[in-house]
This record gives sequence, structure tokens and C-alpha cells, in this order.
Amino acid sequence: MDDLAGRLERVRTRIARAADRSGRSASDVLLVAVSKTVPPESIVEAYRLGQRDFGENRVQEFRSKRESLSLMASLPEARWHLIGQLQSNKAKPAADLFDIIQSVDSLKLARLLSRQVEAQGGRLPVLLQVDFSGQSQRAGIEPQALASEAVGELVALPGLDVQGLMTVAPLGLDEKRLRSVFSQLRDLRDSLAASCPGVRWRHLSMGMTDDFEVAIEEGSTMVRVGRALFGERPYP
Ligand SMILES: *Cc1c(COP(=O)(O)O)cnc(C)c1O
Repeated sequence: MDDLAGRLERVRTRIARAADRSGRSASDVLLVAVSKTVPPESIVEAYRLGQRDFGENRVQEFRSKRESLSLMASLPEARWHLIGQLQSNKAKPAADLFDIIQSVDSLKLARLLSRQVEAQGGRLPVLLQVDFSGQSQRAGIEPQALASEAVGELVALPGLDVQGLMTVAPLGLDEKRLRSVFSQLRDLRDSLAASCPGVRWRHLSMGMTDDFEVAIEEGSTMVRVGRALFGERPYP
């Protein structure tokens, strides 16, 4: 059965088995269906199949999709995750459109988002994106920077509700190195939980189509899966 229902079912089964191997239950791992480039019809179909969390990587794309979606169906329980790099000048629409921003990759962006949300009297759930590639052009905060004092200011920002960490593993790693990236994110979370006890560092967003099972075995609480659900993406 190679329709969306069948693929969703298979991904959920694989998540449950990997959770079981790590001594956890399937309900400890949230599936975020990555719907970037996916047409609104498929999002509505996934929602009807019980999927609630969706990941998008572009503010602009999501803004127009959201309009089509609102004409097609009401998705009252859907939660929208921003998982792509966010430019400062889109901080305001992003804070309005998304329920959680997983890709907070600098103190500067964090301050901007906090100011936007604070003005409206709310607190925006966010994850801090960590980069383990060691290449500064990649999105994400370097782990050393997070271990330092910057994190103190970050978690104290009044408009943000920091819920954990996110990473995208570098491409092409063998399983051993992949595991090491994921376990480093987990270790970083554990050390932050010790040094910043005021924050609930409950989420580790790690794992995509090619590596979500390894990520779950290493403690992931959120996997972001696109292609295994919606098929290969057309490249623009
Ligand atoms: C596209 C994307 C995903 C999903 O990737 P798949 O390989 O399709 O599962 C996950 N996380 C981020 C940050 C992405 O940009």
C-alpha cells in the first residue's frame, strides 16, 4: 500500500519499534510531518489520518499555503513548526504564523523574536538549533557557544519559552558518526539541564527520513520526517 495512509502507518510502526529499543514508548516521540513543497491537499489528507504536527521551512511558502488550507478545511488541532532558517526581517510573520520555531540559531534572532512576541503579551515555544558540522556557514549555534554564558541570556528572554534543542545531522555520515552527533546533542541537553534548571529541556528534535530510527535510539523526542511520508520532493 503505497499511499499516504500506508506510509504514515509504516513510519509510525518504525517509530514505535525504535522507541521500544530505547526503552521508551511511541508516545514519547512526536512525529512532525515535514510538508515543505507538499500541496495543501496532502496536508489535509494527513490531518484526516490523524497527523497533527507539520514542519515547514519557509515563511513565505507557508503563508500562501495557509491561505489555501483555510479555504479547503478547518484544521483546528494542527500545530505548525518552523524548521528552516529564519531571516531577521521575517521574525514578525514567523512569530505570528507558527506555533513553535525549531530553528533559533542565534542570540540576535532570539532577541528579535522575543521582542515581537512580548509586545503581544505571549511566549513563543522555541528550540535552539545546534550545528555539529564545524562549518560556520551551516545554520545553528555551535555547541561550545551554547555551553557558555550566552545561553543564560537566551533562556531569560521574556517572550520565549525554550523547550529544547534541535539539530540536522551533516549529510553522508556512517551510522557510528551519526550516532555520535545525536548523542552529543543529548549530552548537551543534559548539561544544560544541570546548568539552567529553570528551563524544561524536554525536547530533542533530531532525526529525518534517513536517520530517524538511530535518532530515536539516541533519545530523540521529535522526528521531522518528509520524504518517507510524502515521497521525494521536486527540486526547484
Ligand atoms: C526537509 C527537512 C526535514 C525532512 O527531511 P526528509 O529527509 O524529507 O525527512 C527535516 N528537517 C529539516 C530541518 C528539513 O529542512
